[in-house]
Amino acid sequence: MKRTVLVTGGAGFIGSHLCRFLLDKGFRVVCVDNFLTGNSSNISELKGNSDFIFISHDVTKPLEIPEAIHYVLHFASPASPFDYATFPIQTLKVGAMGTHNMLGLAKVKNSVFLLASTSEVYGDPLVHPQPESYWGNVNPVGPRGVYDEAKRFAEAITMAYHAFHGMDTKIARIFNTYGPFMRKNDGRAVPTFVTQALANKPLTVFGDGSQTRSFCYVSDLVEGIYKLMLSKVNEPVNLGNPEECTILEFAKKVIKLTSSGSKITFKPLPIDDPKTRCPDITKAKKLLKWEPKVSVDDGLKRVIEWFREN
Ligand code: NAD
Ligand code: UDP
Repeated sequence: MKRTVLVTGGAGFIGSHLCRFLLDKGFRVVCVDNFLTGNSSNISELKGNSDFIFISHDVTKPLEIPEAIHYVLHFASPASPFDYATFPIQTLKVGAMGTHNMLGLAKVKNSVFLLASTSEVYGDPLVHPQPESYWGNVNPVGPRGVYDEAKRFAEAITMAYHAFHGMDTKIARIFNTYGPFMRKNDGRAVPTFVTQALANKPLTVFGDGSQTRSFCYVSDLVEGIYKLMLSKVNEPVNLGNPEECTILEFAKKVIKLTSSGSKITFKPLPIDDPKTRCPDITKAKKLLKWEPKVSVDDGLKRVIEWFREN
């Protein structure tokens, strides 16, 4: 008998990679999405697979599933700063009501529940790099508050279901992840810079570009999620690539790897844009025996190729 995994947000960027990965591993996959920021083309090649079921549903509303579900991976949520500024109420609702509904589903099905949380729970961090023990520095009423606080609530309710209902829950604190199937206009640095460079247009660096990020290639992230899902770990675990660089260095790297004639143009830094971000992955290394394998250069080359073809 195949084990069944329900993936919310399965038509999104990371969700669609997870669906493909889990089908390859021999699972049945139930993908739930309402296409708020996802796209049916991300999962079109899976639709002929008899182990793949798609359900069009908004997870802020209760969901009943007749069949056995062994794992619930809750990835539904706008994820780019541009998207959660466009959909602030939906972002809060999917983090709060969506997580509550999916925990309820996992409880009746006796499934393992895994929450896609985020490095944004650390806000604009005052500790660097960020270990899981850091509680963060979040502005609840700033433009990023709708996302950060929704995810912080989602973590709190996940831990409450673990503590009070004895459920087997997991929390992945995902740091900036990139790869094929990102929307070219989702506003995030990777698709924005790559599409600008390929069109020989100026790359829009926000602020002076001295803020740092650490970019993880999606195949590494998916491996980490899979290891966490099968593990006995119930506390939050950081998943990301600790290879840190400034956004200006990153933009220059994109120009070099695309052999583009683009220049760099500087735009105002968005409010509350974190100044630094880098995961401390000691816990993931120790508990999951996981660390990223794809260097930023190799990952960027792959994603550039994908954007060129698509
Ligand atoms: P994405 O926008 O590509 O995917 C999110 C998916 O969720 C979309 O398909 C969207 O339609 C769906 N969705 C949103 N609200 C829904 C609802 N109410 N009901 C059903 N489906 C809904 O984003 P992504 O980058 O793939 O991120 C996926 C998850 O990973 C998110 O929870 C995000 O917070 C988390 N995450 C991502 C990153 C990253 O760098 N990509 C970093 C940290 C955390
Ligand atoms: N960024 C930028 N130009 C862009 C898009 C993003 O300089 O066109 C910067 C952004 O201000 C942030 C970093 O790149 O400092 C990463 O942004 P992204 O939206 O990818 O994710 P974040 O880490 O902010 O959630």
